[in-house]
Amino acid sequence: MSNGKFIVCEGGEGSGKTTQIKMLEQKLTERGYSVLLTREPGGTNCSIAEEIRAILKNPNNKNMTAETELFLFLASRAQHVKEIIKTALEQGKIVLCDRFEASTFAYQHFARGLFDLEEVMKINSFATGGLMPDLTVLLDIEPEFGLKRISDNTNRGNLQDDRFDSEQIEFHQKVRNGFLELAQKLANWQVVQATDSVENVHINVWRQVEKILPQNNQRINLLTNQRSTDRGKLEVICGSMFSGKTEELLRRMKRGQIANLKQKLFKPDKDTRYSANEIKTHDGLGMTAINIPAHQPAMIFNLIEPETEVIGIDEVQFFSPEIVQVCNQLADQGIRVIVAGLDLDFEANPFGPIAGLMATAEHVSKVRAVCEQCGEDANRSFRISHSQDTFQLGEKDNYKALCRSCYVKAINKK
Ligand SMILES: [Zn+2]
Repeated sequence: MSNGKFIVCEGGEGSGKTTQIKMLEQKLTERGYSVLLTREPGGTNCSIAEEIRAILKNPNNKNMTAETELFLFLASRAQHVKEIIKTALEQGKIVLCDRFEASTFAYQHFARGLFDLEEVMKINSFATGGLMPDLTVLLDIEPEFGLKRISDNTNRGNLQDDRFDSEQIEFHQKVRNGFLELAQKLANWQVVQATDSVENVHINVWRQVEKILPQNNQRINLLTNQRSTDRGKLEVICGSMFSGKTEELLRRMKRGQIANLKQKLFKPDKDTRYSANEIKTHDGLGMTAINIPAHQPAMIFNLIEPETEVIGIDEVQFFSPEIVQVCNQLADQGIRVIVAGLDLDFEANPFGPIAGLMATAEHVSKVRAVCEQCGEDANRSFRISHSQDTFQLGEKDNYKALCRSCYVKAINKK
C-alpha cells in the first residue's frame, strides 16, 4: 500500500521525546529520507486536529468527562491519520509522530483506570482505520527523574498550567507501567532507556530506527537507477603529514575531470553548515570542495546528484566513525569514492575512522613523505609543538615527517 514508514515516539513527561524526535528527523533528512514530523494530539498542518488539541490542553476544561476526553483524542487522531499521516506514507515519507495511540491506552486506561482496554483499542482502531506504527520507540524513564527534568528546565515553565503535569507522581508511575506493559503486549515496540545522555539515547533510538528503514528509499533508488553499480568502489590514500595525500587525491580527480566524469569533492569542517571552499596543495594545485560538518558525514547523500560518478573526500580522518558506512553506501550505489587522510595520529595510533575505511576499501595506497632526519621514506607525523589539541592541523612549524626509527628516537628524547 505505502512505501513510507510510520515511527512513533512514546514516553512519560520529561522522557525527552521531543528532543529525540527532532534529532531523529535531522538524521533521517541528512540520510536523504523525506521526513514528516508531527505530534499528537493535533498534528502538523492538520488544523482540525490542532483545534481539538487546544480543547484538550485548555486548563479551564476541568469539567471534561473521561468519555469526552477519550473521544476528543480519537477524533483528533482520526483526522490526523486520514488527512496527514496516510497521505505522507503513500508518498513514501518517513512519518515521525510524537505520541500516538499508546498514549491513549497508557493515560486513559492504565493511569486513569477507565474503560476496558480491549474496548478502547477497538474504537481506536476505528479512528485510525487500522493503521499501526511500523515502530514504536518507548523512551522509558522513572517519573521522579522525568518530572524533575521538566521542573529543572526553565524554558518549559508554562507546562505547570498543563492539566497533565499537575497530576500526582502515582499517576505518572501508572502511565509508565502502562507503557511497559504495552511494550510487552504489542508488536514492533522497542524500549530505550531515557536516563542516559541525550547523545547516547539518540544512538540507541537510531539503532532501532535503522533496522526498519526502507532500503528502497526513493532517493537511493533514484541514485542507483541512473548509474551502473559495477563501477562503485572505495579507494583510500593515506600517509603521514607532508606525504602528498591531497596531491594524489587531486591528481586522480583531475584525471576524472579530463575523462568528463561527474565529480564532487568534500572536506570536513567544524562549522555546522556546508559551504564551498577550495582545497589547495603545497604545489598550488587547487580544486573546489564542499565543506561539510565533520560529525554529519551523511550530509554527503544530500549534496550529490543522481549523475555523480566520483566522490573525493579530503582529510577524511576528521569525520565521525559514520563516514565508513557513508563511503561504503556510496560505493554500493556505484560511485567511485576516493578518500585521503592521515593514517596515524601524532602518537602513531590509527587515526579515527581510517582503519575502518582501509579495511573496507578495494584499494589502499600508502604514500610516504621524506624523513626530515635521515632522508628515508617517512610514515609518521612527529609533533614538535607541545599543544594539547589532538586535532591541531598540520603546519610545518608543528609537525615533521619521520621514519619509524627516527620517530622512536625523537619520542625517547621528549
Ligand atoms: Zn629517518
